[in-house]
Amino acid sequence: MNGQSALTGLSCIKCGGLYPADDRLTCDVCGTSEGILEAEYDMEAVARGLTREALAQRPMSMWRYAELLPVPAEAERPPLQVGWTPLVDAPRMAKMAGVARVILKDDGRNPTASFKDRASAVGAACARMFGRSTVACASTGNAASSMAGMAASMGIPTTIFVPERAPEPKLAQLLLFGARVLRVHGTYDEAYDLCTKACARYGWYNRNCAINPYLVEGKKTAGLEIGEQLGDDPPDWVVVSVGDGCTVAGICKGMRDMKQLGFLKRLPRVLAVQAKGASAFVRQWEAEAEEKLPTEDATTVADSICVSTPRNWRKAVRGVRKSGGTVLAVEDAAILDALRSMPRLSGVFGEPAAAAAWAGVLEARSQGIISADESVLCMVTGNGLKDIRTAVNAAGQPHDIDATLEAVAQVVGEPS
Ligand SMILES: *Cc1c(COP(=O)(O)O)cnc(C)c1O
Ligand SMILES: [Zn+2]
Repeated sequence: MNGQSALTGLSCIKCGGLYPADDRLTCDVCGTSEGILEAEYDMEAVARGLTREALAQRPMSMWRYAELLPVPAEAERPPLQVGWTPLVDAPRMAKMAGVARVILKDDGRNPTASFKDRASAVGAACARMFGRSTVACASTGNAASSMAGMAASMGIPTTIFVPERAPEPKLAQLLLFGARVLRVHGTYDEAYDLCTKACARYGWYNRNCAINPYLVEGKKTAGLEIGEQLGDDPPDWVVVSVGDGCTVAGICKGMRDMKQLGFLKRLPRVLAVQAKGASAFVRQWEAEAEEKLPTEDATTVADSICVSTPRNWRKAVRGVRKSGGTVLAVEDAAILDALRSMPRLSGVFGEPAAAAAWAGVLEARSQGIISADESVLCMVTGNGLKDIRTAVNAAGQPHDIDATLEAVAQVVGEPS
């Protein structure tokens, strides 16, 4: 009833080479940075198993899509509830943007408060399945805190490489989930490379999404959910912020699967949003280059998408292109404005990288990319409490008053 994985193997997205579905990470021919592998499934078996009737009986979590996940039914999984996050209609945001409809998919509601739990849940299950003693990961915060949480729920030790600039709440999560935290003097990119080397040296399981073909499958479940939750009335656009590109690539793949399976009537166009100061993926898209462009130093207030070298650009470019979508970058000032307007107009409080997607909606509207009669689903990839310092800076200060009604009246005026 809960379904069995229909995974058949792995294929290289560069050379097309085929591999069995074992615990390799990248293509032997194309190497560790170019040879990203894609999980392949027996789509006939998926179609037989993943019916509306079957889904009606399944758990309200990402594991309801067992056929399209790389984890066999008998494998141990984190006991936490990941995925099947709610949709929130935000009519006042729609009014502000001048579009027909804005829907938020609130992935800040996951157990460790970000979208990354979808990938980390698969990572923890795979590490156990492949008999690895430790999981390692390099992250600006969410991938790490999420991996630490999922691993803690299964009793798996974690070693986490963080860059110097990780926001404190994410660091606190890591330490409280019992991770061994190595704070690297350097950027995210340096922390990432060091983690990859350490995994090779110590035999740790590498959670880095860009090169681990199974983790991105977890991210796909957001696209599967969009297909199931909005299949009969799909939004015209799905808007996602981009760092490495795994999130947007996963969502694109999930929505394509749901289109193929007949759940999703139309494939939404995907708008990938970056911060201007960290827009390597946008440049890669605009150059239409088949090879990776040289790196430029990234800086943005949205720490989760502060990436100089998008590791999964090829999958992401393909996904956005197949959807008929496009990409754009927004200024940090626009991200901070969006950080303020989204919670006020919807009650959903996203971290800066989530606000970036909403800023992207407004920018796309003003550029005429999104038109007035179109509907938009905006992915809220992380909860606002993930980066309190930025939130407080953006929010301004409370009114300081004495404990008297006069003082209240000075602020709010006399009752009418
Ligand atoms: C990681 C992350 C992203 C971007 O995902 P990529 O796979 O790096 O493109 C966006 N928002 C939040 C909150 C994230 O943690
Ligand atoms: Zn290859």
